[in-house]
Amino acid sequence: MESLTDKTDTKISLIGMNPSEISSCLQLKKGFQAKQIYRWITRGVKSFSEMTDLPASLRSSLEESSFCLYTTEVAAVQSDDDGTVKLGLRLFDGSIIECVLLRDKTDGLTACLSSQSGCAMGCKFCRTGTLKLRRSLTYGEICEQFLLLQSNAPGKIDHVVFMGMGEPFANIDNVLKAVEFLHDENGINLSMRRITISTCGVVPGINELAKRRVPVKLAVSLVSADDTIRSSIMPVNRAYNLSTLKAALKNFQSVSGRRFTFEYCMIKNVNISDLDARKLASFCKSLTVIVNLIPFNPCPELDFQTPSREEINHFCRKLDELGVPYTIRISRGRGIKGACGQLAGKLQ
Ligand code: SF4
Repeated sequence: MESLTDKTDTKISLIGMNPSEISSCLQLKKGFQAKQIYRWITRGVKSFSEMTDLPASLRSSLEESSFCLYTTEVAAVQSDDDGTVKLGLRLFDGSIIECVLLRDKTDGLTACLSSQSGCAMGCKFCRTGTLKLRRSLTYGEICEQFLLLQSNAPGKIDHVVFMGMGEPFANIDNVLKAVEFLHDENGINLSMRRITISTCGVVPGINELAKRRVPVKLAVSLVSADDTIRSSIMPVNRAYNLSTLKAALKNFQSVSGRRFTFEYCMIKNVNISDLDARKLASFCKSLTVIVNLIPFNPCPELDFQTPSREEINHFCRKLDELGVPYTIRISRGRGIKGACGQLAGKLQ
């Protein structure tokens, strides 16, 4: 894990650290001051000078120190009519990442966070997949996304999904350290059950999550239950094919006892035939899973097409007949390219 490393040119960020890490970094003699600083960070203050219950001398020495708070800056804010807000964030090294605040019908707020700048996985239905991997984010950079989205939110964010840019299991230590920060009852206090990690099917990551017994929710982007089709649109399938994936998911389920989700991006003429539905039903057998159908969100860089309403309904009827439990995700944020698979770290 990148430890304590949200480095600007000269400064190290305290965001994402717990009170004891803050205390040891700052070599504070009074332990309670680390807790005060931590609480201010979780409330989203942008500078040490706003931490008004610290002595003025400490505040000014922190301002002068080699430590800082935010290392990212908001480079763009875009809002869609459906309430979605997308932030373009410039990292200390100049690269741009995106994170999204989604608002559901009941006004629940979900933060969709990125775990990497770019992505090496190359899924063909995903705009981020057209970028090369620049680097993995530090845990501080992941936590900053949450705090910046919270400061742009009309209420308390109640869910977090790691479905933004990057493959979370390619940066598992920093992602799980950020999960700790989000879950801590003395800070953000988000239930583990309200945090979802989504993977394209990186089997060692699924095994590691099972081993560490972190009770977050797991989502797996399946897209096809046919090895040939899946390999053609998700290169990860060449390393971890469907039978390897299923074995890992069975192990995850037996260790965690929890249901997980298959994300199924519905692509016209690719994965929504009757045969695709039957293969999906057969793959779901012996797994406690719900399928989340996501009609492909169009992007100029990608050749695929969104199925028609009739095609979507037909596939759903087939799943009904086959007894596959599913939901359909209503795409939010399409107007600002903030919907699933549309993030590309380009400022609009
Ligand atoms: S779907 Fe996820 S893993 Fe695949 S290219 Fe996009 S960001 Fe990467």
